[in-house]
Amino acid sequence: MNYDLDHQDIRDGVRKLCQQFSSDYWRRCDRARAYPAEFVDALTRSGYLGALIPHEYGGLELPLLAAAAILEEIHRAGGNAAACHAQMYMMGTVLRHGSDAQKAKYLPGIADGAVRLQAFGVTEPGSGTDTAALQTTARRRGERYIVNGQKLWTSRAEHSDLMLLLCRTTSIDEVERRSDGLSVLLIDMREISEDQLLIRPVRTMMNHATTEVFFKDMEVPVDALVGDEGMGFKYILSGMNAERILIAAECIGDAKWFIDKAVSYGNQRVVFDRPITQNQGIQFPIARAYADMRAAELTLKEAGRRFDAGENPGEEANMAKMLAADASWRAAEACLQTHGGFGFADEYDVERKYRETRLYQVAPISTNLILSYLSEHVLGMPRSY
Ligand SMILES: Cc1cc2nc3c(=O)[nH]c(=O)nc-3n(C[C@H](O)[C@H](O)[C@H](O)COP(=O)(O)OP(=O)(O)OC[C@H]3O[C@@H](n4cnc5c(N)ncnc54)[C@H](O)[C@@H]3O)c2cc1C
Repeated sequence: MNYDLDHQDIRDGVRKLCQQFSSDYWRRCDRARAYPAEFVDALTRSGYLGALIPHEYGGLELPLLAAAAILEEIHRAGGNAAACHAQMYMMGTVLRHGSDAQKAKYLPGIADGAVRLQAFGVTEPGSGTDTAALQTTARRRGERYIVNGQKLWTSRAEHSDLMLLLCRTTSIDEVERRSDGLSVLLIDMREISEDQLLIRPVRTMMNHATTEVFFKDMEVPVDALVGDEGMGFKYILSGMNAERILIAAECIGDAKWFIDKAVSYGNQRVVFDRPITQNQGIQFPIARAYADMRAAELTLKEAGRRFDAGENPGEEANMAKMLAADASWRAAEACLQTHGGFGFADEYDVERKYRETRLYQVAPISTNLILSYLSEHVLGMPRSY
């Protein structure tokens, strides 16, 4: 089925690239919880991973909706862009708030694949939803920051050269608002010894290369600071619309994969002498998932259109992420149910994609927090937390 002609040249290119990575490849990576390094290398070489990097630094300088099309196609082809998607949305923080020196030092390498910016250290064991409660500190000593603390769920840290780290530079009792006094550091992990930075993998229900990271008197040069000290929370928030839109695109890709898979399997599977999709009990959940996906896709396009026009589409970006995550989850349910027992066998890939798409109800932002955002910031109801 061909649902979408937007950025068709890019979509065709990504589809071609994805054909080199069969479902068997993704299944093998999943079984071994192995990082899909070959896929990430190919995506980097093709230039698609540098889609949002400006021409002057060697990137493709494409609009966000083109980047969304790239991620959507990877998921629609049965792959998982979570192995590398953060590089796309973290780029905005560096581009908007990084110094010229930081951009000149790192962006060309990121664009040509020599350097990887994949690790985003925000969440801690005691601070997920409540970001401002984070406890990792960076204290200035001369020309260095000394970082102490712990991050959790820092995905891809073992496969990244750089980490964008949110930490506290002014203690919470010295600031007016809890979100003040936080700063972003762009850390070159290649320059840090293991006794200062320890990365431990965390095994999860799907293949996600996530980790916990410990900082022990880690020394970082002061020029790692992104923008101004104490403004980190704002800088991270400013990247959230792009993150929501890109994750929504992955969910749309998942939903399309589940729907196509359910229709083609269900049309062929004959039970009681007729295809199972002849039963409304089978076809209606698939049709409903399709309608949900298309509605979410329209919201995503509106969010992306406004983002690319330089607006601040917080409402649309949040709604797109929630609606797309819900659509992919409903499509996953319909697809698994359509496959009956076979949906549980890993050779059909349905159970793998089912596990992968479940994450988006929780991370990078949970559905509840999107509803809270809409309640408070769009509808004017009291803040609930
Ligand atoms: C596989 C994976 C990869 C991840 N990768 C990264 C990464 O690369 N970098 C990074 O920084 N983080 C990462 N995260 C962390 C992710 O962003 C957090 O898990 C998420 O923000 C939720 O935080 P939490 O897990 O601490 O849940 P909690 O904050 O403990 O919340 C638990 C539940 O309570 C709900 N809840 C909490 N407060 C409220 C409220 N006021 N109203 C209604 N409901 C509420 C939440 O919605 C959630 O469902 C990752 C997580 C996972 C699982």
